[in-house]
Amino acid sequence: MALSGIQIYKLLPQTNCKECGFPTCLAFAMKLAAKQVELSSCPYVSEDSQQQLAESAAPPIRLVALKAGGYEVKAGNETVLFRHDKTFYNKPGLFIQVNAADGDIAKKVAAADAYSVTYVGLEFTVDGFAILADGDLGAAVKAVRSASKRPLILIGDPAALEPGLQACQGETPLLHAADPSNWETMADLAKKYQAALVVKADTLDELADLTQKIQARGVEDMVLDPVPAASPLSQSLAAYVQLRRMALKANFRPLGYPIISFPAATGDPVRESLFAAQAIAKYGGFVVLSEFKPELLYALLVLRENIYTDPQKPIQVQPGVYEINNPTPESPVLVTTNFSITYFAVANEIEGSGLPAWLVVADAEGMSVLTAWAAGKFDAERIAKSIKEFDVASKVSRKRVVLPGHVAVLSGELEEELPDWEIKVGPREAVDIPAFYKQVLT
Ligand code: SF4
Repeated sequence: MALSGIQIYKLLPQTNCKECGFPTCLAFAMKLAAKQVELSSCPYVSEDSQQQLAESAAPPIRLVALKAGGYEVKAGNETVLFRHDKTFYNKPGLFIQVNAADGDIAKKVAAADAYSVTYVGLEFTVDGFAILADGDLGAAVKAVRSASKRPLILIGDPAALEPGLQACQGETPLLHAADPSNWETMADLAKKYQAALVVKADTLDELADLTQKIQARGVEDMVLDPVPAASPLSQSLAAYVQLRRMALKANFRPLGYPIISFPAATGDPVRESLFAAQAIAKYGGFVVLSEFKPELLYALLVLRENIYTDPQKPIQVQPGVYEINNPTPESPVLVTTNFSITYFAVANEIEGSGLPAWLVVADAEGMSVLTAWAAGKFDAERIAKSIKEFDVASKVSRKRVVLPGHVAVLSGELEEELPDWEIKVGPREAVDIPAFYKQVLT
């Protein structure tokens, strides 16, 4: 049973040394009871206390990591119901399903494995492959491995799975699935090959019963498949939320595992998209897509990035002066903030136009132009400071600086801050920069 903050406090050194980042041991104990910190943050807990605190220190949702070829896909270890309470940590792994019976399995996997897109400076790819054992799984794993080293989910009954497991020894795949009819054999297989195991049942009661039995048989890394395939989205959502609440609020260990989703169970592509998006938002850990569809994958990857970005730390680029399209001393200087999406919107428009420019990125604590201006983080003083700090004057012979249109109001103050510069007001939207450049700056 979980310990209260006071009970935990009694097991801590009570020296208030602050090394854990909290002002007192009591504050740390309260956070530990709320599963918001790890026990390892306090270096002074005695071994005896550590043992007593083990249950409180364990994450409410077990971290499960699939590994292969230097890749790792992790799910679990989440501590909050809502992203804005803190952050979500481990992005749901997006897996592409292939069938062992497919003749061109290696070709399909190679196409998906090669998929890579850049979004605000981040590289997006698929995370792994799920292989349905509707044919020789051993041969299928070898074919997949000829095209990709990414982690695997193996789907089938115990007899069909074993050849696949033999073909990927040394990796940590995920097996789907143990159910009330086969859980002993599946648990033995997972234990023998050190694989993680999906546990599947039609109700949460059955699921909790199974995970306890499987754990007693020696398997720790489990993933839950909590609703029958093709259930309505509302039923899946209710089950996923209930699982998360049981794990975090009731600290109910038998259901404290990541969740796997198969959005394409009905074959309806619209449902697949909606279910996958729902699973990413609440609270899927592994999402298996029916096939490689870049148009769906990209949307899901962007959604995932937005949900799993720490809301307290916007994605930022390094402040500095960026050269776009080989600028010369005659090229204009444009200014923006260091919020990634703002930076890439501006940089991509200039780059796409083929026109050369210097882009000064001011440190606005990762906020967009208007937000930063409203928060007092992007004013004339800061812009002038950036231009001076990055020694932009030494790079240009014609001192022209273009302000984002949204902060036209700063132009007068900036003239005072930079008296030997010509201040111009650019467009409000990045998309209008090329036309503005051609009309005003050439
Ligand atoms: S590091 Fe440990 S001993 Fe020091 S204040 Fe934190 S909980 Fe107390």
